Amino acid sequence: MVAADRTFGAPGRGWGYVVQLNLPGEDARAGLPVVLGPEDASRPLVVIDAGHGGKDPGAGIGQLREKDLVLRLALALRDELLRQGGVRVALTRDDDRYILLPVRPDIARRLQADLFISIHADSTEVGTIARGATVYVLSDRGSNEAAERIAKRENAADEINGIRIAEQSDNVGAILVDLSQREMQAKSEAFGSLILREGRGRLPFREGTVQSAAFAVLKAPDVPSVLFESGYINNPDDAARIASPEGRRAFAEAVASAIRVHFARESGQATAL
Ligand code: ZN
Repeated sequence: MVAADRTFGAPGRGWGYVVQLNLPGEDARAGLPVVLGPEDASRPLVVIDAGHGGKDPGAGIGQLREKDLVLRLALALRDELLRQGGVRVALTRDDDRYILLPVRPDIARRLQADLFISIHADSTEVGTIARGATVYVLSDRGSNEAAERIAKRENAADEINGIRIAEQSDNVGAILVDLSQREMQAKSEAFGSLILREGRGRLPFREGTVQSAAFAVLKAPDVPSVLFESGYINNPDDAARIASPEGRRAFAEAVASAIRVHFARESGQATAL
């Protein structure tokens, strides 16, 4: 349910509490971002979501803020996909703005996207060290405690000045019983595995398999969705990699390859890929 132009009811607060959003794009009537790439609507559409933004900086230290780093990764992936052609692309944000978590998958759903990828970067507790990228899909139960902790941190993005704006996490478990959601789960996991496969030798991964946790941003029930944690901002190697043009290129090439193989499989044209 969506109210008039660019105005959304705040989940958990009822429809009397309204949040005004300025979403990117020229299609002001629908409040949806512009779809880039071929004008042929039969071409597959991927929605790229740069995590956080605006008043929500995400993880980070000093000048290295998650919201900035992941926006550059999202733009690099957009550019790579458009350069290769054949795929339509939309971004939930292409500048530094705040978007509520539930709105992000909703944009993918309303655009009837074929794929959704949310890009993030993490930071470990002081005194602990972790390294590498991690690929997540939605689950009501995390693969492990670390995955659950990370999902909790990412879901807290809608908690501004101590006020919880959206209570979306309560709904995450409920939608999993839906059969179509299970099919989406399988597709999401297959796509996540492709990122690991295509990233091999190009990106360092923390885990060799797709992880799962209750990420609110992954709850579009009819769009295969993956959350990509690109690395740890407080790990100097990871931070340097994520912030560098070479690191962005490696990310964009690996994920673009995974997206192309995924769509080729979906179209039935290349089952052997
Ligand atoms: Zn994040």
